[in-house]
Amino acid sequence: MKIRLPKIKVVQLNCGGTLIYEKTNFNQASSVRIGFSVGSAQNEINGTAHFIEHMYNHCTKKRDKETLVADIKKYFGTSYNAGTWRFATLITFTRVNSLLDQCFELASDMLINGDLDPKLMESERGVILEEYKRKLDLQKTSIGIDHENAMLEYIYSPQQTLGDEADLAKITPEVINNFKSKYYNKQNFIVSVAGSESLGKVKKYVEKHFAALPSGGECAPSTLQNIVKPSNMQVLEKELDTPLVYISLKCVGLNNPKHYTMGFLCEYLNGQNGKLFRLVRESGLAYSISASRCHFTESGSLDFSFKASKENVNKVIDKISIVVDDIMANGIPEDRIKQAKENFEYSFKESQTTNGREAVYNAVSYITKEPFTSQADIKAVLDMDKQTIDSYMRELFSKNTEVYVTIGGRGLKASDFYDLKTIKKMILKGNK
Ligand SMILES: [Zn+2]
Repeated sequence: MKIRLPKIKVVQLNCGGTLIYEKTNFNQASSVRIGFSVGSAQNEINGTAHFIEHMYNHCTKKRDKETLVADIKKYFGTSYNAGTWRFATLITFTRVNSLLDQCFELASDMLINGDLDPKLMESERGVILEEYKRKLDLQKTSIGIDHENAMLEYIYSPQQTLGDEADLAKITPEVINNFKSKYYNKQNFIVSVAGSESLGKVKKYVEKHFAALPSGGECAPSTLQNIVKPSNMQVLEKELDTPLVYISLKCVGLNNPKHYTMGFLCEYLNGQNGKLFRLVRESGLAYSISASRCHFTESGSLDFSFKASKENVNKVIDKISIVVDDIMANGIPEDRIKQAKENFEYSFKESQTTNGREAVYNAVSYITKEPFTSQADIKAVLDMDKQTIDSYMRELFSKNTEVYVTIGGRGLKASDFYDLKTIKKMILKGNK
């Protein structure tokens, strides 16, 4: 099987900034992410970067509100979106190549010439406050952010990103203009394009429309890594009738090829024939349980998640313990490794040929220095033998691994469940 890998070109632009370009087989269309490598990490007042992103759609020095809204519809079409990440604020759209010239002109007007109408700013403050409240409501029934916060530094919180009522009240036109004059400049400008338009034309359009990018200001600091915290267990009050449980083990991140073995492990544990799923299901303890992997560049985790009645949570943990014992003793069976490799190859190939996919290696990945899968990686995964995979499994379930447990539900007490020491004893079996 031939696997096509993205051919990424990184180009320094004459107008300042960086272009990440990938030629794809999109049918006469291109997918674009454009903006600045600054985001909520640069906020002095919570919510500033995101507030600016909301003001993109309001008015510019060239276009009043009506004209801008009409042009967004005309040029970007319905694919238009804008987003604030921790390290980036970007406009995104996918459009036919024949409109790209106009699209970049519009993007430059929105990013560089944004104007602040105090009345529109007031109404946007209300919109953002509602967005913040909706995020908080969602958090009442989920433990994802709480769990990540227990594991890692520098995770988004809704307050950091969006700002609460008091934060939002402090965001004045002066705060916005200061942020922009500090960071919306040549040094932080970034654009990624994945599409069928030629690199030459894309570069020409961008340099023409962004010639007026300001110089000076500050370069956004290089990205902070997710620092792993020590083992932790928390029992939280959440609006859930049935407790929701996350148990995570620290493992390697994306820049370590061993992370692929985690995918094999998850395949072995999950699904109708999955070892763990069957054990839990056959004993009627939970409707489902899943093992998944989460990877950042430097660090990752193997995450078990399930919902079970308060009485059954410990019993599910007993089952996880049995499964880990089995993996420590026997590793992952040869036939399941073979199956997992086939699936890996197939899904990778599919992701490379799907027409409507977005840029494989986009602006955000570039900024956060995320490694992408190379031909050498693919070969390394397909060549991995059982011994190598099993030896990493033993490393994963070793006594030195950090373990994080979050349990959320109505009226729970820590004493309802095993404590962290017990859980660690049950799922960490080996010595390094
Ligand atoms: Zn928003």
